[in-house]
Amino acid sequence: MTNADQTKKVDVQNANSPLAIFGGPKSVTKEPGDLFSWPIVTKEDEEAVLEVLRRGAMSGTDVTMEFEKEFAAWQGRAYALGFSSGTASLQAAMFGCKIGVGDEIICPSVTYWASCLQVFSLGGTVVFAEVDPNTLCIDPKDIEKRISSRTKAIMVVHYLGHPCDMDPIMEIARKHKIKVIEDVSHAQGGLYKGKKVGSIGDVAAMSLMSGKSLAIGEAGILATDDKEIYERAISMGHYERFGENIETPELKPFVGLPLGGYKYRMHQLSSAMGRVQLKYYDQRCEEIRKAMNYFWDLLKGVPGLRAHRPAKDSGSTMGGWYASHGIYVPEELEGLSVTRFTQAVTAEGCPCYPGANAALHLHPVFNTCDIYGHGKPTRIAHSDRDLRQPEGSLPVSEGIGTRTYDIPWFKHYRPEMIQEYANAFRKVAENYKALLKDDPGNAPHLGGWHFFKHR
Ligand SMILES: *Cc1c(COP(=O)(O)O)cnc(C)c1O
Repeated sequence: MTNADQTKKVDVQNANSPLAIFGGPKSVTKEPGDLFSWPIVTKEDEEAVLEVLRRGAMSGTDVTMEFEKEFAAWQGRAYALGFSSGTASLQAAMFGCKIGVGDEIICPSVTYWASCLQVFSLGGTVVFAEVDPNTLCIDPKDIEKRISSRTKAIMVVHYLGHPCDMDPIMEIARKHKIKVIEDVSHAQGGLYKGKKVGSIGDVAAMSLMSGKSLAIGEAGILATDDKEIYERAISMGHYERFGENIETPELKPFVGLPLGGYKYRMHQLSSAMGRVQLKYYDQRCEEIRKAMNYFWDLLKGVPGLRAHRPAKDSGSTMGGWYASHGIYVPEELEGLSVTRFTQAVTAEGCPCYPGANAALHLHPVFNTCDIYGHGKPTRIAHSDRDLRQPEGSLPVSEGIGTRTYDIPWFKHYRPEMIQEYANAFRKVAENYKALLKDDPGNAPHLGGWHFFKHR
């Protein structure tokens, strides 16, 4: 029997059976096993980590520097610098771009906080831009009007593995002579028009923590071709590497102690694991893409559901498909709330939650909090105008929770199992009418400030 025949058979069965939320049979019947397990850890990872442990080299830099070399080559950049976290690497990327007191970065409102919140520690601030409702990445059309004389950089986030539309973003940045920082925490290895994300802007920085796509423990990494950005990133929190080797004239007089007053070295148990994970990463992502694309291909044409992925012939691809989500179109389901929709999918045996990251511009830390004792909110501590963005100012970002839901993040291509999960979504969407009656609607703010519920 071909896959198509199998799918058809299950579909027929689905159409005739009531939704599981009303007592019908569940769509997902098979045990997932290691279908969702990540990262994939083998003896090779264990041996690499044990080697560091046995040598007592946890706080050294020899393994980290090897990892940096390999990562830079993989990313197609001249320099890579390891960090203790993605948050630290992004702060160093900002410092590398000379963001200081009163300077502004433009960042999408729908992202994890560590794409921008650290800018406060540099005396800088953030202006949020809208996201595109289909890519969920920063909307290039919404950037230019937010540029002021104080804007120093655009922070782009390849959100949930989807590459940002980099061509217009780079064009705007060049025109206004501002930097582009890529936050690649969700999308390592993804392509934008054939080019690896993280190799397009002035500098890339990203998380490598265990929940992410390239998962090596608690760690981050920065990559750039710009020697000054690289050396400024070193100067901030890598004191033992901030020495006579430094060539940037403005930094030279201060070598020896970290300018940021931080210590950002990567733990070598992570860099050892990173060397092994990187070796297999492309191959494992290939299988993830095959599995995820298969899932979405099964759902083509189902009302209310849209894949979150670039078009097939665009030369762009999803990275590791981190925290995979789908786009929800309630208008095609007579307004059925995503809350009710995801309840019904969950009942089918596929845990599913509405929303993604909550819009950052609505959180009090970006509005009222005086973090450093300036006597006014930190967001505008050094600003020449009130750049805060009240509720209603970024409607697409604010509404994103009602138009997204998480989907299974398959790590293996196992068609019979993936079909069951796809059928859970198809069955609910095709039987949506039965759900309209008891629809509780959506809570005012869907989505979370920090994390998704991982399977
Ligand atoms: C996880 C994440 C970070 C922060 O990385 P950590 O390693 O957790 O410090 C930054 N940006 C985005 C988009 C993330 O998802």
